[in-house]
Amino acid sequence: MSEGSEAGELPVMTIDLDGVVCAPIVGLNWGIQRTFLDPEAPPPRARVWPRWSGAPLDHLRFDLRRPVRDARAALERLSRQRRVVLLTGRRSDPSYWLRWYGLREFYSEIVINRGPLKSPHHKLEQVERLGAIEHVEDDPRTAQLLAQRSNVAVYLRDWPRNRDLDLDPAVRRFASMTGLADLIEAGGGQTARLDRP
Ligand SMILES: [Mg+2]
Repeated sequence: MSEGSEAGELPVMTIDLDGVVCAPIVGLNWGIQRTFLDPEAPPPRARVWPRWSGAPLDHLRFDLRRPVRDARAALERLSRQRRVVLLTGRRSDPSYWLRWYGLREFYSEIVINRGPLKSPHHKLEQVERLGAIEHVEDDPRTAQLLAQRSNVAVYLRDWPRNRDLDLDPAVRRFASMTGLADLIEAGGGQTARLDRP
């Protein structure tokens, strides 16, 4: 992809927030789900709390978290190769947090979960809507569902809690945001999976 392209012409990469760009508190990523979903089963419905109760809870859960160390430099590199869309299962808007840490400018769009689906199926629905060619994730349950049900190339941020699982071989593991940017720059636009109907 040539430098200077308009972001709208670049292929879409969706990137999860928590456990990928936003570091878990004290480094322990307890949000990871180690069991897989049946890819053919109807999507389970989420229990959605009203915003007046959910929003303050989200502030408590998320506001004190910090970006991973190399987030800014890596997002800057990725945004030259891709139209980067933040795709999170959160139900509150992280824009303030992103601006606070100087990350907002690298995203062309912020997609939160406003619907009735749980996070894995919400992300499946949105990668298809956005026409993404790649999704970046830390949760193996979500990575597996997207590898099984969509055409996106799935990149999984390595954590001790998402190791030793029988993941679809199409899921590629990476160790850091810098490592992800290295992979994308090395592979150019060759990572799209077009082998599924
Ligand atoms: Mg996550």
